[in-house]
Amino acid sequence: AAPSYLVGLVGAGVGPSLTPPMHEREAAASGRRLIYRTIDITDLGLPAESVAELVSAARRLGFNGLNITHPCKQLVLPVLDGLTADAAAIGAVNTVVFDGGSAIGHNTDWSGFARSLGRGLPHAPRDRVVLLGAGGAGAAVAHALLASGVRELCVADLDAERAGELAERVGRRFPDAAVATGDAAAPGRLLAWADGLVHATPVGMAHHPGIPVPPELLRPPLWVADAVYRPLRTELLRSAEQNGCPTLDGGGMAVFQAADAFELFTGLVPDRDRMLTHFHDL
Ligand code: NAD
Repeated sequence: AAPSYLVGLVGAGVGPSLTPPMHEREAAASGRRLIYRTIDITDLGLPAESVAELVSAARRLGFNGLNITHPCKQLVLPVLDGLTADAAAIGAVNTVVFDGGSAIGHNTDWSGFARSLGRGLPHAPRDRVVLLGAGGAGAAVAHALLASGVRELCVADLDAERAGELAERVGRRFPDAAVATGDAAAPGRLLAWADGLVHATPVGMAHHPGIPVPPELLRPPLWVADAVYRPLRTELLRSAEQNGCPTLDGGGMAVFQAADAFELFTGLVPDRDRMLTHFHDL
């Protein structure tokens, strides 16, 4: 019989995540059995640090791997036996693969965003890009932008120290690129300089409505990509579209991080267009 797969998602409030049904539907569509469990530390009343114990339990119980999400993506690092070079450079893991008794950490948020950008805005000029938000998503996006050929990256965050640390870290990994920090409180100058804006703060999420920059600053030929995917059409993207800017929503990143994790867990090549369709059906 074809092998079956058991995987899970560890994080806080992961119940409504669309990642489990995306994996399960893709496996079913390929004629395989995959069970995807959510392991919600909030429901379990566990602290974020318990990710260590959950990873070792899952390994013993025969899981093929785990996805790891907020607030555990960094806390999981010390319990792993190895990291890909990309995950080490980003400093965060969203995918753990159990392989022959060892737990290896990967980051598919960056590869997911890189694929989404390549597919969604293939011809967008990307010499100069502003990244707003230097948290977990921002770190993966920064890595993806530089790996996708961005030559000058400006990182801005209300927490200037966070922006500085991220700029320094990705600058070391991509020494040929120019990486600087910008003032998140003065977006006008940043956007006048840039070819594109990538937004990776929580502003615009369903429970955090709003727009992270004044809409009148969104003017073609600037392109605008959002990491937020709930809702898919954020206020930022709606304003950018109304003004005529090319846009990219956060759905592609969410789907392609899952597709890349699926490939790591199962060794099967997923049908990424089918996964995108499933996501939009869910
Ligand atoms: P995080 O809390 O780790 O980081 C958010 C950062 O934004 C913080 O550094 C904070 O200081 C900064 N910030 C907040 N408001 C700001 C503002 N108005 N201006 C400038 N900086 C501001 O969060 P995260 O995990 O990086 O997630 C950020 C967003 O990305 C969330 O909406 C999340 O849903 C989304 N996300 C999407 C995907 C995807 O697959 N599409 C994956 C991960 C995260």
